[in-house]
Amino acid sequence: MSVSLSIIYLVATIAFILGLKKLGHPATAKNGNIIAATGMGLAIAGTIFIHDLEVPTSIYILIGLAILLGSAIGGWMAIKVKMTKMPELVSLFNGFGGASAALIGLVEFSRNMGDQTQATTVISGIIIGAITFSGSIIAWGKLNGSIKSVIKIPYHNTINNLFLIGIVAFSVFMVTTGVDSQAMIFVVLAAGLMYGILFVLPIGGADMPVVISLLNSLTGIAAAITGILYSNMVMLVGGILVGSAGIILTIAMCKGMNRTLFAVIFGSFGATDSVAGANKTLGTIKKTNPSDAAIMMNYATNVIIVPGYGLAVAQAQHVVHELEELLTKKGVNVKYAIHPVAGRMPGHMNVLLAESNVDYSLLVEMEDINSQFKNTDVVLVVGANDVVNPAAHNDPSSPIYGMPILDVESAKHIIVNKRTMNAGYAGIENELFYNDKTVMLFGDAKDALTSLVNELKNM
Ligand code: NDP
Repeated sequence: MSVSLSIIYLVATIAFILGLKKLGHPATAKNGNIIAATGMGLAIAGTIFIHDLEVPTSIYILIGLAILLGSAIGGWMAIKVKMTKMPELVSLFNGFGGASAALIGLVEFSRNMGDQTQATTVISGIIIGAITFSGSIIAWGKLNGSIKSVIKIPYHNTINNLFLIGIVAFSVFMVTTGVDSQAMIFVVLAAGLMYGILFVLPIGGADMPVVISLLNSLTGIAAAITGILYSNMVMLVGGILVGSAGIILTIAMCKGMNRTLFAVIFGSFGATDSVAGANKTLGTIKKTNPSDAAIMMNYATNVIIVPGYGLAVAQAQHVVHELEELLTKKGVNVKYAIHPVAGRMPGHMNVLLAESNVDYSLLVEMEDINSQFKNTDVVLVVGANDVVNPAAHNDPSSPIYGMPILDVESAKHIIVNKRTMNAGYAGIENELFYNDKTVMLFGDAKDALTSLVNELKNM
């Protein structure tokens, strides 16, 4: 490798690491993204233009067209996508990353089967890439609702494990015998695709964030394997960074939900479509209106706002910030309680509230705010459901039993804003809505909060 290319790769690697570091905080995340993307641009340009190969112009034209087409589609998707649809986009991007690794493996297969190390790399790339692709497409279907239910396959763990052992055994046979058969490599590809489907289909409910994060990590591993194949340092480092960041995030999300990764993959948590406890008598609900809700908040000393997925759907982040500023001006202490899996993507609430310039010091993570609810006069739950569901503490039969939740029940008064009595993502009833201290403020979050703001302005 030429010295200039090594330097470019080094700069790109530093940009990735710096970018990733800055992505760790909402205030620096935008810059982090720009720095990492610039590093990626540099690495791509260096790889294309700095080498000692004789490359015909037609290849440059083809690469240029592919980059233009990919950038146009990616740019268009990123601009068009709604914030609430972001996890679906991430799933698709994960899938494309996996598909690229699998396709590269197919192209490189014949050239590398003579060398056992290279053959292992190629086949691993095909298997992991194929699993990531089909698994991500299923996850995408589940998130956008086109795959409606959790599909339960009898003995799915046993079938999946046997399938995986079969794929590995077949691959070991191919590598050790050095067999160069197109038909056999397509069998490996098909088996990888099938495993991805079998792996994600039975997982549902509140476990999807963990699965998406895991698939994201697999995309990184697939890219790192391709980096090994081409002895490309920057691809290897980039892949390792995505893979390890994905694993760290996966573990953090498991911790946030009090689950082990093993239980997510092999358990049945969230794998239910029924409304748990639907036949229990939960009591009656009390409705409120913006005027009464505004009075409660106006005379409170401490208010905690709990944002959830519904806030993102309604795009109510600006009006919730207006409400918080108005209450603060009136001498009320206002904070936001942030649950690690609120919304539909990791950090969803932080990103959303950062968009409306909410002061970061007001965003308090679950473990820090849970002890503060008992001293809180009013909790305003906006479009959150699963993350405040006490069944996680009280009902061992509930599919979310054991998941840490925001302890809003211990506050003095609870106002819940949502449109109907419909369930949240996990599809289960929420006894919080029937609590004596709870009043329901029905309506779209943006409309309800706008009315609250107007009422408060008149007080
Ligand atoms: P939930 O999905 O549990 O609940 C959201 C609630 O918002 C619904 O009950 C809905 O009720 C209400 N809502 C929807 N639209 C509006 C609107 N326009 N105005 C007001 N309310 C609205 O959300 P949570 O944030 O509490 O929990 C997140 C769930 O998503 C968890 O189960 C988590 O595991 C899962 N998940 C999280 C991911 C992540 O990475 N963060 C990724 C994938 C899944 P109604 O229809 O009656 O209005």
